[in-house]
Amino acid sequence: MMVRDDARGFASHPGEEVHVTAESCLFCRIAAGEIPANVVRSEEDVVAFRDINPQAPLHVLVIPRRHIPSVPALEAADGALVGRLFLVARDIAREEGVEEAGYRLVVNVGPAAGQSVPHLHLHVLGGRELDWPPG
Ligand code: 5GP
Ligand code: ZN
Repeated sequence: MMVRDDARGFASHPGEEVHVTAESCLFCRIAAGEIPANVVRSEEDVVAFRDINPQAPLHVLVIPRRHIPSVPALEAADGALVGRLFLVARDIAREEGVEEAGYRLVVNVGPAAGQSVPHLHLHVLGGRELDWPPG
């Protein structure tokens, strides 16, 4: 499989370079069906599945199929794909019945925000009151 230049993870220490290839990436493997997940939406470019450790009654992750490590790796040409992530998140919130009450979309970017999987993902959280500010 082709690994793009941006197919790297983020380093946990400055100067450390961590390479995460599409072959080794957990979310790439879920998107490819190699690791089981509770998939709620599967499209050509986007997949959505339930979080294994839900933080709210509704907790779905929306990801691009293509390995993009995080927001800093996005390019201008990815604009439509990012838009699609939001539209799929909107549809899931609607289908799961939380649109009227409200819900939260979260993207953790890098170590300080607690990003633990270096493959871009949009959290869809709902079904309970969500505190602000977040931790
Ligand atoms: P992050 O902390 O990077 O923003 O979010 C990663 C999320 O992926 C976490 O909420 C975590 O529970 C979820 N996660 C980690 N491993 C798996 C897995 O193997 N399957 C699923 N469905 N979710 C996972
Ligand atoms: Zn990946």
